[in-house]
This record gives sequence, structure tokens and C-alpha cells, in this order.
Amino acid sequence: MIEIAPDIAFLAYLGITLLALLGLWTYSASRASKRKLVLNESELYVCEYCKSVYMDTRAASVTRCPECKSLNNDNVYSKSRE
Ligand SMILES: [Zn+2]
Repeated sequence: MIEIAPDIAFLAYLGITLLALLGLWTYSASRASKRKLVLNESELYVCEYCKSVYMDTRAASVTRCPECKSLNNDNVYSKSRE
């Protein structure tokens, strides 16, 4: 049987625990950096009146601007790109 001094066993326990936590933190940080927000251009609108850019998840033909509360007819962003 291998004999280990209590202080060495305690240090080994701390080292293994810290390495496991470091590995979990590195894994979660790498996963968080890979996540990106993907915007669909059809959901992106530019207000005709105040020119603010906003998103609407509904594919509606008439949307309401969250800034000036005016109604906009169509997706101005996709029209200007054509
Ligand atoms: Zn507006």
C-alpha cells in the first residue's frame, strides 16, 4: 500500500479539485464564445419616419416602430438592398 502524508494528500485533493473547476470554466467559456446571435434580414426593420432600426419577429407587412410608435408598411431594409 502506498503511504502518503496527510498534507500531501490534502494538497493533491485541492489540486485535483482546482484542475477540475478550471477545466469546467474553460469549457463553459469556450462554449459561450461560440454562441452568436443570428439575425434574419427579414426580421430587421428601419422606421420610415425616425430611421431607427428595430426587430420584429413576426413576418407582418405592417409593423410598429418601438421608438416613435408609428406604423411602417413594409420591410424597408430589404427594399433598400434590392
Ligand atoms: Zn420610428
